Amino acid sequence: MAPLLVAVALIVVVVLLAVVFARRRGGSSTPTFTRGPTRETPGARRGATAGSAGGFGSSGLAARVRAAFGPGSDGDHWAALEDVLLKADVGPRATADLLHRLRARGDGDPVDLLRDEILAVLGPEHQVDLDAPGLDVILVVGVNGSGKTTTIGKLAAQLVREGKRVSLAAADTFRAAAGEQLEVWAQRSGAQLVSQDRGADPSAVAFDAVTSATARQVDVLLVDTAGRLHTKEPLMQELAKVKRVIEKAGGTVTETLLVLDAQTGQNGIAQARAFTDAVDVTGVILTKTDGSARGGIVLAVREELDLPIRYVGVGEGPDDLQPFDPAAFADRLLA
Ligand code: GDP
Repeated sequence: MAPLLVAVALIVVVVLLAVVFARRRGGSSTPTFTRGPTRETPGARRGATAGSAGGFGSSGLAARVRAAFGPGSDGDHWAALEDVLLKADVGPRATADLLHRLRARGDGDPVDLLRDEILAVLGPEHQVDLDAPGLDVILVVGVNGSGKTTTIGKLAAQLVREGKRVSLAAADTFRAAAGEQLEVWAQRSGAQLVSQDRGADPSAVAFDAVTSATARQVDVLLVDTAGRLHTKEPLMQELAKVKRVIEKAGGTVTETLLVLDAQTGQNGIAQARAFTDAVDVTGVILTKTDGSARGGIVLAVREELDLPIRYVGVGEGPDDLQPFDPAAFADRLLA
């Protein structure tokens, strides 16, 4: 009996040793990638605390830039970096400009240098200034579906919260639900709505809205416009006419803001040019940045359209509009 027990114990010990050995082998055969010393840029830290608001969190540009300059890259760092930037939707012009700036900078950490140069391309913050006495009119233009109506709703909510009297003009008389959608936003935000029946002349709506807003001593009038038209008149001519009529009615167009969907990428830039040619656009609101992993479009807007970005849309709710903050943007893009 005793020899049998000793034999069983020995077998158990041998099996246990075999299991432990196998586990160890398994562990060491799993590849472990040791990284070089990773440097967390101050920007990356700030980006992390800024949360996901503003989108672009998944871009991971810093890692790709480091890879382009890392020991594993196959020689032409600049070509690799160009590829990284183009894939991030930075656009050919802004990419060429950034490469030029970086080459001129010489040595240094490529991510830190890139952050500096992104900030140089973006320039300072450009807040909308609505503190002039009298009625400020903001004309909002852009293609259908870019987010004009929603953005106007969010902006109205923000301005009302700041204590301003706000009116909305439903001058997109073409899109079926635009008027109703704006009405919901007006009720939600506490703004007054001026609208006419679907198919009405957009300029007539704008005229009425200015007259009514002036009579009610409104501070800010936000004018929604069509992204497509029912009339024979081309869209761009119609927008220019709406602007003229607002001024004729005594309103001052303080800002003409172009709403651009961040997800349309470089196509959006081409569309935007048509609007900037027709009306004197003073700034861009970039919507749907919450769903875009390719935040480089911001740089393309700045460089190719030479327009400041005023706000970014980060969702569909009333609070999902943020003033554009260049430093926070650069951090999020690189983080
Ligand atoms: P319009 O035709 O330009 O007036 O566009 P809408 O305001 O109707 O917006 C089109 C769609 O985009 C709607 O479903 C909106 O809820 C959505 N949208 C607008 N802005 C944003 C944003 O910043 N983020 C997200 N995720 N959706 C948005």
